[in-house]
Amino acid sequence: MSKEELEFFFNSSDFSIVGKAYEWEGENVVHIHTDKIKHSFGSCNDVLFLKEDNDANEGLEYLYVVYVSKQNDEITAKVHSKSFEVEVNYIPKKQELYSRNKGILEVNVLEEKRVMIVGLGSFGSQIAIELAKAGVGEFSLFDFDRVELHNLARHTATVKDLGRLKTDVIEESIKGKNPYACVKKYAININEHLDLMEDEVAKADIVICATDNNESRFNLSSTLVHQKKVGLFGRAVTRAEGGDVFRYRPGGPCYCCLIGNQWFGLSEGEVSNVASARRNGQIAAYVSERDADAFVQVGLSADIEPICNMMVKLALMELSRGVESGISCLENELIYDYYMWANRRERRHANWAAMPGAGSKPTIMRWYGAHIPKNDNCSLCSDREVLLDEGGTIRSKYGDMINLDMSGLSVEE
Ligand SMILES: [Zn+2]
Repeated sequence: MSKEELEFFFNSSDFSIVGKAYEWEGENVVHIHTDKIKHSFGSCNDVLFLKEDNDANEGLEYLYVVYVSKQNDEITAKVHSKSFEVEVNYIPKKQELYSRNKGILEVNVLEEKRVMIVGLGSFGSQIAIELAKAGVGEFSLFDFDRVELHNLARHTATVKDLGRLKTDVIEESIKGKNPYACVKKYAININEHLDLMEDEVAKADIVICATDNNESRFNLSSTLVHQKKVGLFGRAVTRAEGGDVFRYRPGGPCYCCLIGNQWFGLSEGEVSNVASARRNGQIAAYVSERDADAFVQVGLSADIEPICNMMVKLALMELSRGVESGISCLENELIYDYYMWANRRERRHANWAAMPGAGSKPTIMRWYGAHIPKNDNCSLCSDREVLLDEGGTIRSKYGDMINLDMSGLSVEE
């Protein structure tokens, strides 16, 4: 039981209330709550909550009756059960839930942070849950897909989630780790709701882009540049033979500096799903359903996890930036815009050295960081396209004032 729920009931004017008891058959374990919860299953029964001074014979038709009382300023509960003798244990209070992370992470800081995750596939689902485990307190989740059978091998969803919206499934997983987390869900295509996307980016402390199409990556990148927010872009390449992570920080190179301005057309990204590959143009409309299946080449969950893990570390470091914590030292190490990982020596990694005797040559299963040059002609982040406003001030296309340094220019008459 949750002490906070008991306190809330005890201090209310209610004489009695009916809550819910979740029980696993044959395990003699029951989770009792004053209200329905979003992260439990097993059989569910009604349970009556009573304040201790009520008639003890009341509510005996219920499988469980909870008597709540106050002694020495502390609110406690006794449970009467028809099926077994109940020893009461309490869910820790919010401030105690992540106390084990203390010393490494600044838990109180993370609790106040808001993470926006776009795409809840094999990447987004894992990253969301890891961040909840670390104690991140607020999430906004975007994905319009539902859990399908072919997702199960790489997704955190299980068989019981088939057919459900991924936003709902991941909300439950987050709340299962941190019942106090605040989760906002959008089961929509972000490319069709750009105003909403901009509002959510404005509220977020970091944006995780884990989608499978370049259009959403371009739209998010544009908003990050405009709003000066930090963002992470992660992906696996064909059959997850490897993958990469790009970090955008305000003022640095943007995602379009990395991939060029030609964001449309064939993507190098992994084809994991026929329907989304058709939407993205990775599989042309004229390709038959049978032939389309041959395009689908997914990698193992184990090959995706290292890339998710890097994104989680980068996210925690960015969210904790400026606060002294056990991971502050990473700020001197993870200084790159771009991180690259190979799982196998195939295709683009075929020429890499074998692990034994590789010396200083690149090998599989090691991270490599790189600085990406800022593209002076980038259509998203370069200030090249400048405008003069009515007052004669030079502004970038986003309306920011630009101070040009003219001191080095000589003027010929
Ligand atoms: Zn750029």
